[in-house]
Amino acid sequence: MATIFTKIVNGEIPCYKVAEDDRHIAFLDINPVTPGHTLVVPKHEVSYLFDLSDDEYVALELFAKKVAKGLREAMPCKRIGVTVIGLEVPHAHIHLLPITTEADMDF
Ligand code: 5GP
Repeated sequence: MATIFTKIVNGEIPCYKVAEDDRHIAFLDINPVTPGHTLVVPKHEVSYLFDLSDDEYVALELFAKKVAKGLREAMPCKRIGVTVIGLEVPHAHIHLLPITTEADMDF
């Protein structure tokens, strides 16, 4: 069965898209931990980040870097927290967590 993120990639579930290229999509988390909390997802469904091929992994990280740069330009954030959780959705992804205020440090 397709993951929630594959359904988002296929347009079956709406999202607030932040960025997209041919292999990846970035969209706002539905339950943000900090304002601008963004998920960076490969369109190719692989359940776990470290199961991506080396090529896919590097491409995802480079895309995440571009998205983080865009977030830093768009928001008054000091830096972007980067984390991998992967407990809820079995589809490889990276969390980008803009840190704008002291309170955001509590994530
Ligand atoms: P993780 O798998 O890394 O533990 O967490 C998955 C993340 O995906 C959570 O932060 C959750 O809020 C987010 N999420 C789950 N379902 C949806 C959805 O349908 N839309 C969006 N935009 N985010 C989702």
